[in-house]
Parts: sequence; C-alpha cells; structure tokens
Amino acid sequence: MTPRGWAVLTLAGLAVALVVAGALLIPWSRPPAPRADQLAALRSLPVDQVTRGRAFHAALRPGGYGALAVGLAVALLLGLTPLGSSLVELAGRPLGGHWVARAVLGGLAVMLLADLLTLPFAAWRQTVLVRYGLSTQGWSGWAVDLLKSYAVSAVIGGLVLLGFYTVVRLAPRWWWAFGAAGAAGLVVLLSFVLPVLVEPVFNRFTPMEPGPLRSELISMAARDGVPVRDVLVADASRRTKAVNAYVSGLGPTRRVVVYDTLLREATPAEVTSVVAHELGHAKDRDVWVGTLTGALGAAAAVVALYLIGSWAPLLRLAGVDSVAEPRAFPLLIALVTVVGLVAAPVQALVSRRVEARADAHALALTGDPSTFEAMQRRLAGVNLADPDPPRWEYLWSASHPSTVERMAAARAYTRESGR
Ligand SMILES: [Zn+2]
Repeated sequence: MTPRGWAVLTLAGLAVALVVAGALLIPWSRPPAPRADQLAALRSLPVDQVTRGRAFHAALRPGGYGALAVGLAVALLLGLTPLGSSLVELAGRPLGGHWVARAVLGGLAVMLLADLLTLPFAAWRQTVLVRYGLSTQGWSGWAVDLLKSYAVSAVIGGLVLLGFYTVVRLAPRWWWAFGAAGAAGLVVLLSFVLPVLVEPVFNRFTPMEPGPLRSELISMAARDGVPVRDVLVADASRRTKAVNAYVSGLGPTRRVVVYDTLLREATPAEVTSVVAHELGHAKDRDVWVGTLTGALGAAAAVVALYLIGSWAPLLRLAGVDSVAEPRAFPLLIALVTVVGLVAAPVQALVSRRVEARADAHALALTGDPSTFEAMQRRLAGVNLADPDPPRWEYLWSASHPSTVERMAAARAYTRESGR
C-alpha cells in the first residue's frame, strides 16, 4: 500500500476512535432544564442587570465578528494565493533563505501578520471592557499582556515549526505519520506544561490562606474523593473585575485555581459552590477527556491536512509544489482556520454538556441549590453576562450553559430532590 493509502486508513481509524471516545465520554444525555424554568429564572433577574449585560455584549459583537472576518480573510488571502509563499520567502531571506530560516521565521511572520491585522479589534475590545468597568488594566498593562502572549506563541510556534519541517525533511513520504504522533504528543505535553510554565507568565498564584473557607474546600474535596492537595488563588484583579475559577493540569500538575476577585465578591458558601463545580471536572476527568479527544483530533487534523494538501488545484492556487514545504505554511494555516470555524459549534456543544455535568455535580455535592442559583446570579452580574443570549450565538460559541439554564438546573434539582 502507498503512504497515501495508509493515510486514508489512519484517518478512518482516528475518526472512529474520536466518535467512540465522544460517544462514551461526553455526557450527551443531559438536556438543558425546561424552557419554562429558564424564563422564570430570567424574570427573577434585575431588569437593569439583564439590560446592561445585553448592551455589553452588543458593544463587543462588531469587534468580535470583525476580528473573525479579518482573520479568515487574511488566512485565505495568504493561503490560497502566492502572496503567502512570497511572505515566507521574504522572511527567510535575511538568513540566506536556508530552510530553517524559511520554516521558522517564515512561519512566525505569517502568524505575526495575522495578529497585527486583528490588533485594532483587540484594542477596540479593550476600550469596551474599560467603558463597562470590567477591565482594571491601563493600556500599558494591556500591551505587556499582549507582548507576553506573542512571546509565548512565538516560542511554542517556533519549536513546532522547527520540529515539523525537520520531520518532513527526514521522512518526506511518511512525515504525516510522525507529524500526527507528534501533534498528539504535543497536545498531551501542553496539557501538563501550560499550567505550570505559561500561567505564571500572566498571573501570580498563591496558596489560599488558612481559614474556615480553605478547610471547608479541602474537606469537601476529600469527601468527594478527588485528590486536591491545594487550592490556589490567582491575582486576576490586576486585569479584570470578572470572577472565575478553574481546574487545569493532569495528575501531579492538577490544581484548582480561584480568582482573587471571586473571594472578594462572593460569599464563602458561593465560593464553595464554584469549587464544587470545579471538583466535578476533576472527578469526571474532564481534563483527561479533553486532552485525549484533543490529541486524537490533532492527529486526525495532520493526516487530513496531508490528504487535502496533495490536491493539485489547491497547490496551484498557493503557488507551491507540495503542502509539506515551508512556503506552503500559509496554505496549512488557511485550511486549519476553515476547519477551526467549522469545528467551533461542535466544540461549544461538547463543552456545554461537560459544564452542565459539573453543575449537576456541584448541586449533588453541596446539596445547596439556592446558593448555587445565587452564585449564578452573581457570576452573571459581575461578569456582565447576557443571561439568555441569542440562540445562534449560543449555538456557535457558548462554552457554558447560559445563566438562565444554570439557574433552571438548580430549580429542577430542588424539585427533583423534594427540598
Ligand atoms: Zn466548568
């Protein structure tokens, strides 16, 4: 069989594995609470809170979709015309056009150009956040964060580009197989490494101060059977008023992180409710599931790119001989961008189902639906959420159930448990 035949077979295998993993590991059988409960929850929210949340999201929308449109246009323009390959050549020229220079500098130049062209939208977004009082950052702090994130992507991107094009040179016929394995490995590695190496670039993490709240959280985790050695507090207040908590990392790097803003804004019982939700993620191994499906998806993407990328009309458009040469990197980015847009609603749906399961876990663990509902009310108020967002936007991008869905879930729990 030819490498191409093996690639088709591999892609089919990975697709089956993804479908099986998705069917077994994603809690599909958890539909949102009845719409009538959601509408009752919506009516119970203060009118000015709802109005303000909706106005905030309306103000963000043009910039958000503008950035999306410009990003897509740039990716297609560079990838499906010879412009992109010329940019890669140009960026590699100062170092004599050596393949390493083309691969790394050329690739980074393409990424940087896309970042620069969407920069005005990012700045606009920041003005909206400041106008609505959600951001606590001045322009200098904002710029420093931006430069840090560029630096992090340049380091990770540079290493990936160098690794990928080295493999292509060493195994010109089978690079897709090594590339797929490498991409899967990279997803797993980043899952472990990002929380430890990258999060401290942006925030300072300190163990939560000893006290009744900390003791309650640790004992709740023990009761839940989830090994949590520590609860960390992130100094999120340096850039935002928004409140949040999350769990990240795997095994020894796993941590529950609580924003300092959450501790300031919410009652201890509400913080407990949020952490109970995060424990749900740990208990159901959501980080593992995300890493596994992410790794399978990344491997499948590399094989698919190899197969799609050998389609002659595409190569002609991009003005390249093979999708595996550094000059074809913009074509890869264009394909990845399109696939990412198509995959977004699927990822959002999966994420919402997983989040709803963590909510159900929090309700069962705390047995306190009224605090859960109060917390959702507060989360929405402080974070300026639209409690019941437009349907199309919800389906397209919502990573969490809406505020009214989460409140309705608490009401349904109260009804079912007869409290
Ligand atoms: Zn969650």
